[in-house]
Amino acid sequence: MSKKYKIACLPGDGIGPEVMKQAYKIINILNNKYNLNICYKEFLVGYSAFKKYNTVMPKSTIKGCEKSDAILFGSIGDNRYKSLNKSSLEKDSLLYIRKKFNLFCNIRHAKLYSYIKNYSPLKKKIIKNGIDIICIRELIGGIYFGNSKFKYDNKMNIKSAYDTEKYNKKEIYRIAKIAFEMSKKRKKILTSVDKSNVLKSSILWRKTVNEISNEYPEVKLNHLYVDNAIMQIIKNPSSFDVILCSNMFGDIISDECAAIIGSIGMLPSASINENGFGLYEPAGGSAPDIKNLNVANPIAQILSLSMLLKYSLKEVKISKDIDNSVKKALKLGYRTKDISNKKNYISTEKMGDVISKIFINIK
Ligand code: NAD
Repeated sequence: MSKKYKIACLPGDGIGPEVMKQAYKIINILNNKYNLNICYKEFLVGYSAFKKYNTVMPKSTIKGCEKSDAILFGSIGDNRYKSLNKSSLEKDSLLYIRKKFNLFCNIRHAKLYSYIKNYSPLKKKIIKNGIDIICIRELIGGIYFGNSKFKYDNKMNIKSAYDTEKYNKKEIYRIAKIAFEMSKKRKKILTSVDKSNVLKSSILWRKTVNEISNEYPEVKLNHLYVDNAIMQIIKNPSSFDVILCSNMFGDIISDECAAIIGSIGMLPSASINENGFGLYEPAGGSAPDIKNLNVANPIAQILSLSMLLKYSLKEVKISKDIDNSVKKALKLGYRTKDISNKKNYISTEKMGDVISKIFINIK
């Protein structure tokens, strides 16, 4: 009997549908190669949903996600929506899903592949020991979900505005626990990032993380203020292994990690809840500047599928096979535009074909 899984696929906007199509090529191979019964169904989200349903998060999409074992997400964002002066597209779609499914833990693995190290913006002597950082970011608390408001003058111009950063111990505890567990399985070095010299929420963050560290004597815990952390990651990335951050600090630091590995088009991410249900997506956005040009790098989308198999479906071997197929494609010299010398590069479609072909034959 083959194992049955359902995946809800939400390609979204911009390059989302182009790179998602490359992940479908891999899913289509899975059933035969590993005797699985994976069924995937597409749903609209973001501006592409708005055009059809007048909402960026249609009910049919929410239902489709509820009925699935995991969500494979592309990206969202479109300037045409911004010009309508509506509320935030991200808040009403992606942040809505994160909150609805309690996806409190975001995992991004920033790894510099030796074959493309020339595309890292960092100097050779800085990256000589490689980059292999896992960023664990709290995803449904903090300033992005706290109280926020505009205050207007009598001409309805914004006069002032505020956002609120708020965390309780339970929220910090559950994300820190994941970071310690992850560290235990790796180099046993954990860096917790905060701004406890200024923010009360960060004082609680540091205090709680210190308390949990007593349960993990084998893990070496360091604390860094966010401004210093950002500097140290650029100056000495190989000294980091697992980084633990609040929602906003993690948003910034995980993008910094994406930049130093060469291209944001290479970085996948997982957002999971306590039951292992999750949403998997590339770290980048809808990239309107390269939309429909067939030049987007599909690797982040394919590696997001790999994370889905690992974290939600617990198919660890298949996930490794996908990762190795990507590695092999890079080793053989295949490059999309973002990781090439801008002359000899292959298209989004071709990169999807190359990785699928390697994947079919990988043992
Ligand atoms: P972006 O990540 O879309 O693009 C930044 C740069 O990275 C661009 O030059 C783009 O071409 C490049 N890039 C991104 N993905 C790539 C890929 N796979 N291959 C090659 N190059 C790639 O960020 P932005 O320009 O700040 O935002 C564009 C839109 O995306 C905005 O509407 C923003 O709100 C939205 N956004 C969505 C998400 C998401 O869906 N999770 C995340 C970030 C931004």
